[in-house]
Amino acid sequence: STAQATATQGRPVQRFDPNQLAVRSGHFIHGRLVTGDADASRDVLRPSDGQAYAPLPMAEADLVDQAVDDAYVAWRDGDWARRPPRERARVLRRWADLVEADAPTLAPLEAVGSTRPVRDALAWDVPFTADGLRFFAEYADKLGGEVAATRSDNLGMTIAEPYGVIGAITPWNFPLVMASWKVGAALAAGNAVVLKPSELTPFSVLRLAELAVQAGLPAGLFNIVQGDGRVAGAALSRHPRIAKMTFTGSTSTGAAIMAACAQHGPKPVTLELGGKSPQLVFDDAPDVERLAGIIAGAIAGNAGQVCVAGSRLIVQQGIAPALVKAIARRFAAYRPGPTWEDGPTLPPIISRQQALRIDAIVQRAADAGATLRGGGPVDDVCGAGAYYLPTLIEGVDAGNPAVLEEIFGPVLTVQTFATEEEGLALASHPHYGLAAGVHTADLNRAMRAMRALSAGTVWINRYGRSNDFVIPTGGYHQSGIGKDLGRQAVEANQRLKSVLIDFGSPV
Ligand code: NAD
Repeated sequence: STAQATATQGRPVQRFDPNQLAVRSGHFIHGRLVTGDADASRDVLRPSDGQAYAPLPMAEADLVDQAVDDAYVAWRDGDWARRPPRERARVLRRWADLVEADAPTLAPLEAVGSTRPVRDALAWDVPFTADGLRFFAEYADKLGGEVAATRSDNLGMTIAEPYGVIGAITPWNFPLVMASWKVGAALAAGNAVVLKPSELTPFSVLRLAELAVQAGLPAGLFNIVQGDGRVAGAALSRHPRIAKMTFTGSTSTGAAIMAACAQHGPKPVTLELGGKSPQLVFDDAPDVERLAGIIAGAIAGNAGQVCVAGSRLIVQQGIAPALVKAIARRFAAYRPGPTWEDGPTLPPIISRQQALRIDAIVQRAADAGATLRGGGPVDDVCGAGAYYLPTLIEGVDAGNPAVLEEIFGPVLTVQTFATEEEGLALASHPHYGLAAGVHTADLNRAMRAMRALSAGTVWINRYGRSNDFVIPTGGYHQSGIGKDLGRQAVEANQRLKSVLIDFGSPV
């Protein structure tokens, strides 16, 4: 690539020509890139301008089977699972260092192929990917088991063992980060992994896999198959050698994968699914300007294409006018533009089709009586890229489609309330329970709300993740099953063996 780092306002920024990037395509099997059948390949588009990025081979079931069989043999016959956990950790740490050092290549690759601005990919996605791998490395040797000694001549204990081959399927919104969470946890726990990334963002993870091999990961421990969810993803989920599936994506796809796991197992699943997360704001929330920044950023960041996007503002009547006005001002300041430029603050929607889907829900919201304030689609930003300006929707009732459905775009509904009880009632969603924000200066109220909200994550006077990897993430209700991150993610990639011993009489 022609990428080179320069510095703007203290932040390193990449300047490069997106047409000059060397994009490597293919599957990744047994430690190397496999090109696949050129006839069966499909052009992957760059979200920023709709131009062709690179052709992607689309795996049929037989290739998926081959990749899983290869991973299984590599796992069974190799020593990865039997290595002292510290040695696995050393490989993961080396891998993390290589990922970080590779930022000048990885960040542009991620930026051009996804909706992640190169500035953010450099400042967040790549270092966050590396730090995630380091976190899992740190946990590799720290998970103990139970011990029971019910008599002086016996002992019971549990020991954790890897499953074997884990199947992972990831979405398009944070391609590197999502893959690192799944793959890092599985490998740290001593498994092999076969990953099927989203067919919309398939390239950056290939680089991740190459770096894993450079770091010393044995061939076959991390394989990647490219292709359609319904073909390659389905083949992965039903393969008899896949001992467990881990998935991040939409609720309906998660249900399909779980059904496949039930039918072809049964085998366990971890599911990180959709959300419709509320931002519950009380009149006493301090600093309206700062709060407006948090709330705007939580729905306009990555153009709303974030599972935990704070998409429903539930605001108490007193503070509502000032807060909504401040949010509207911030929304109006977003500048759409391609991910490879430094100026724009609003990245594209992943595809034209997805932008149409967003707009269709917004139109249905208006048909149902809502008032739209600003925003909407813009077409002439950059070639055939699809952009959607941050949109406020007011005058909605609880049954409005914009309140009920996950939009996955920069669209914020506004509902007001008078009492704490009303606010909490509005904040609850009939199906989703991924995350919630609570904003108040009253500690008791914040704690009451935190306990009352039926969500997997509650942020209080903040919103979004920093490097707090030890805190797991995952949803309640139809937002998911199980957790990513935290020690729980490593534990979820292990099964427990119970060992019971009598040693009272000499053998
Ligand atoms: P998606 O469900 O359409 O696709 C996700 C992945 O599943 C892709 O790799 C796809 O190819 C694959 N897939 C599709 N059909 C399949 C099938 N029948 N069998 C197996 N695999 C199949 O989701 P998306 O559009 O890529 O991502 C957006 C969704 O992901 C949103 O709903 C969002 O909330 C969710 N998400 C959740 C989290 C979380 O942590 N909870 C994080 C990011 C995204």
